[in-house]
Amino acid sequence: MPLIHNLGFPRIGAQRELKFALESYWRGETNSHALEATAANLRTEHWQRQDTLDLVPVGDFSLYDQVLDMSFLLGNVPSRIRELEGDDLQAYFRLARGRAPQDSDTQSVAAGELTKWFDTNYHYIVPEFDQNTRFQLDVSRLLSQIIEARTQGHDAKPVILGPLSYLRLGKARDGSNKLDLLPQLLTVYNELFEALQASGIEWLQIDEPILATELEAHWQRAFTQSYHELRRGDIKLLLATYFGELQDNLILACELPVDGIHIDAINARSEVAKVIDWLPVHKVLSLGVIDGRNIWKADINALLDYLEPIHKRLGDRLWLAPSCSLLHVPVDLGNETTLESDVCSWLAFAVQKLAELTLLAHALENGRDEHQEALRNNAEALQSRRDSEKTSNPQVRAALLALRPEMSSRRSEFASRAALQQNQFNLPLFPTTSIGSFPQTIEIRRARKLFRENKLEQQEYEHFLQREIRHCLQQQESLGLDVLVHGEAERNDMVEYFSEHLQGYARSQYGWVQSYGSRCVKPPILYGDVARTQAITVPWAKYAQAQTAKPVKGMLTGPVTLLNWSFVRDDQPRSETCRQLALAVRDEVLDLEQAGISIIQIDEAALREGLPLRRSQWSNYLDWAVACFRLSANGVQDGTQIHTHMCYSEFNDIMEAIAAMDADVITIETSRSDMELLDAFDQFAYPNGIGPGVYDIHSPNIPHVDQIVRLMKKAALKIPAQRLWVNPDCGLKTRRWEEVAPALTNMVAAAHQLRASSL
Ligand code: GLN
Ligand code: ZN
Repeated sequence: MPLIHNLGFPRIGAQRELKFALESYWRGETNSHALEATAANLRTEHWQRQDTLDLVPVGDFSLYDQVLDMSFLLGNVPSRIRELEGDDLQAYFRLARGRAPQDSDTQSVAAGELTKWFDTNYHYIVPEFDQNTRFQLDVSRLLSQIIEARTQGHDAKPVILGPLSYLRLGKARDGSNKLDLLPQLLTVYNELFEALQASGIEWLQIDEPILATELEAHWQRAFTQSYHELRRGDIKLLLATYFGELQDNLILACELPVDGIHIDAINARSEVAKVIDWLPVHKVLSLGVIDGRNIWKADINALLDYLEPIHKRLGDRLWLAPSCSLLHVPVDLGNETTLESDVCSWLAFAVQKLAELTLLAHALENGRDEHQEALRNNAEALQSRRDSEKTSNPQVRAALLALRPEMSSRRSEFASRAALQQNQFNLPLFPTTSIGSFPQTIEIRRARKLFRENKLEQQEYEHFLQREIRHCLQQQESLGLDVLVHGEAERNDMVEYFSEHLQGYARSQYGWVQSYGSRCVKPPILYGDVARTQAITVPWAKYAQAQTAKPVKGMLTGPVTLLNWSFVRDDQPRSETCRQLALAVRDEVLDLEQAGISIIQIDEAALREGLPLRRSQWSNYLDWAVACFRLSANGVQDGTQIHTHMCYSEFNDIMEAIAAMDADVITIETSRSDMELLDAFDQFAYPNGIGPGVYDIHSPNIPHVDQIVRLMKKAALKIPAQRLWVNPDCGLKTRRWEEVAPALTNMVAAAHQLRASSL
């Protein structure tokens, strides 16, 4: 039978046990023993759930992040952390979050930087290097988990990040060449292999996901050289790649001196045949045939059709696994009780995916007849998905066919729109606004929860929200903001909220996926054609606008962000799904306009996140993503002002696409880079309005007036003052009113100063 294994299991727990254990430990309510006990219980449970596999992953579990674990394993802990008193766990959380539970205010240190793990929504702690970096092996945690797994009767396959990916994903703070550290780093990897060999490990999974990205020639050479320098002894290395095609790293990967290679056979299926041809005959080929990034049931019969000839050819050299670590999918569909039964029957979470893998291997070995019933069930579920009336909506299809190019373009150029809008709104120079949400107080969360649990009547809930809107508007008026918002109290999450009001979407109860540390997201499930059956935000926007003479922005989530933060159907191209979302958002935009809302913000927080791993594929993505935004936004009259918001900080390489969206105003994050990021907008001569965020909403610090004035003056050197807006860098929902009020007071005061000084 083909050997079956897993690259990693979600560690947060089916009920987010790890999250709650971490947070109570951080609050100082529980001690480290309690935390470690929860962690050990989760590992035990997760290994049990992977019991049908031949090899279970060990070392994939992490209290915060697997890359951070690797930094500790390699002894690469920055000196600012090492110098502080305390044990390893304290150091670990200081690097993760800037402080350990026992730290008084004076003991906080700069946390490691968080950044996105490839094209996923998971964030890792960036390893830090400089020319003085010295590595020192600390294998104790990994070894004790190996023993733990063994004691519980499992065949352990430790999982580590390979040396090249570890270096590549880190940052040299002093600009030194990271590859200079390689010889030293390899010494430590060799010590690690020795330690693992002594512990009797047979297979080690060594992840080199950067092989699915574009590598310069000297990095490719470094791969070959280093893997030849690794002395793995009796340990067998399984080199794991995932998330995409290897392309010009393919031959390199096949020829590295390892004992097997894992290929993502979902995203790099087209390369499998070539890998089989190139792979030396003594090497194992692990095919990741179950999608580790999405939640749909696999088509087992189709996979058998595909794998049977490969199995014949490779025999025992064929291994099977999910395409990547299951970290990116929820734990167990079995806990869901409210999903509609047909939709539920189309899905597989981590536990179900491993069952699929097991079935696949058995059916390959024993033939399909022996597993008729399971295969029939699988086929029936897939057939029901294909036939379901729920997944297709003829009206939506017809509307997409009827699209005309002019629907995506504003009637006039920005300059004439801007003049018209200025006439209408009569805003001062440096107009002030916010990004949308205001503090989500305990009362707001409580009311939403009660309403969701049917413990609060619709009408009562609406009255509550109206009160919140009035309060939020009063605050903004007394702070003196120029363009107001309703505050988003009705939204738990900017994607979930819209998914609840769109046809074609379902929501799980426990479909949590780790985003970073203890933070999880629950992406809604987009299973069918998307349709908006009635206005979503219009009543709130209208109500808000009726309370004030100042303009109130309508607030929507854009199509690309809805797409990128959902689990989306895999039976049509993402671009097609995105166009359906765009049409739904467009309907809402036009209804808002009809209802007298003349400023409408369409957030595209996740637009950049959707960029493919390889640059060569960027323009294709950006073309359809921008087209979708334009379709959603640009049907309005010239007098209607479209805003968009993006909360990431790298724009240089996608400026053209951002300009092509043609929003009247874009608000962005810039304060943390001291407006450096505006260079991109300057060099490109960005033509429309910009609100460069003037303070960091992620920090509780109150920005000073002078600081904001200075930042805006810096901005005005690059962008004409007539096109500048003044706003925070993101929504304020995670802050308290005690922080928001003084911060916005200062922001408005700064705007006044700027106006006075530019007269
Ligand atoms: N309008 C949203 C808010 O203010 C935007 C959030 C975001 O950019 N992530 O909360
Ligand atoms: Zn934002």
